[in-house]
Amino acid sequence: MPETAFPAHAPDGQAFEVGALDALPVTADGQEVWAALGSAGLIAHCYRDGAVAAGVDPWRLGRVLAAVDARFSIAATLSASVQLATALPVLAAGTGPKAERALARAVTGEAVIALAATDVTAGTDLTALRTEVRTTDGRLEVHGRKTWISNTTTAQQFLVLARHRAGRHFTHFTWVLVPADVPGVTVRPADSALFARSGVGHVEFDHVLLERDHILGRTGMGLPGFARHIGTERLAGALWGVALCRRVLDSTHRHLVGRQHGDGTLWDLDSVRQRFAACLVRTRELHALARQLGEAVAYGRDATAAATLKAAAGDTVGHVLGECAHLWGAAGFASGGMQEIRAQAALFGIGGGATEVVLSTVADNAEAVLAALEPPDTAV
Ligand SMILES: Cc1cc2nc3c(=O)[nH]c(=O)nc-3n(C[C@H](O)[C@H](O)[C@H](O)COP(=O)(O)OP(=O)(O)OC[C@H]3O[C@@H](n4cnc5c(N)ncnc54)[C@H](O)[C@@H]3O)c2cc1C
Repeated sequence: MPETAFPAHAPDGQAFEVGALDALPVTADGQEVWAALGSAGLIAHCYRDGAVAAGVDPWRLGRVLAAVDARFSIAATLSASVQLATALPVLAAGTGPKAERALARAVTGEAVIALAATDVTAGTDLTALRTEVRTTDGRLEVHGRKTWISNTTTAQQFLVLARHRAGRHFTHFTWVLVPADVPGVTVRPADSALFARSGVGHVEFDHVLLERDHILGRTGMGLPGFARHIGTERLAGALWGVALCRRVLDSTHRHLVGRQHGDGTLWDLDSVRQRFAACLVRTRELHALARQLGEAVAYGRDATAAATLKAAAGDTVGHVLGECAHLWGAAGFASGGMQEIRAQAALFGIGGGATEVVLSTVADNAEAVLAALEPPDTAV
């Protein structure tokens, strides 16, 4: 049986209809792709039993992301990935009619949801974030600023991670649902040609007043909730990374076998073949790791496994895209070419946790990782 990027235990018998995606141009932005995913039922498809609250089915999510990646820009895929893996599951923690209505509209692709965790402070230092939510006269008041948030320019709702108490304790943070059209919310696009199609931008909350039912989940459970879903986002990122490396290697291979060099082609040069083969090995390593650790992340909430996948994906995608872009020579610098894809793909080592930060998580659990690597028959 041929090996596929998305494992054998993924099949679920459900039709996987991508025709709605094929109707869009390759230049479609994140909002257009999201609407097409929703109308084709592919957003609900990513969750167990089609219910967001039941949690992500990581293998279905991986396949949907691969289908999006195969057709559209990295920016458009990012827009969908953040919503599918993290924003919608965080939104599903809300129980009131407002949260339920927002979720229902997001699942059909009618509404875009932005996940605004990163603050004006260093994104790698999340507990330093400054955006705050206070309760004044029975109402919520949200004040602060979030920068570099996907889907900002297209979102109907923001999921805002805000502090309700001073200090860095993990219980000091709460999710708030902030509609984009209420007084005090100002949005502006980030100055980024690379990620414009993800709707990335900056958003300011200037003493925004809301009813109390805009709190999502329990007060103080913002960070534990985020930690639970960021693990799935890391697994999704690794699966997407495999799909991205595979398609880039495929098109690079076609380029090399067709590019004349001497009496043959570039593919005839052994040093080129070896570099390419090293990329295949790295991609297979990431693929194997995602298969090995996927269930532990998705169902066991194993944060070390998720961090391992994130570190591996950042490293592998960076290496493979760098090598492929180089092998394209001057043609790599065409607009929308491999050098542009390489620059966008650098986000795999930064967004959702910089490689250094996730490596610290792995180091914190070094003893458990070593124990898991011990052959069972030599354990004492
Ligand atoms: C296109 C795009 C889309 C994004 N979308 C979203 C979104 O939808 N929602 C959201 O909340 N955020 C989003 N982000 C923000 C993203 O999550 C942050 O960029 C990321 O967390 C890193 O934070 P930072 O950029 O502030 O980097 P900084 O914290 O300024 O760190 C910069 C660099 O310093 C080094 N560094 C930092 N900390 C450490 C450490 N502890 N040890 C060693 N080295 C370290 C790393 O090399 C790191 O890359 C997006 C960013 C981009 C570019």
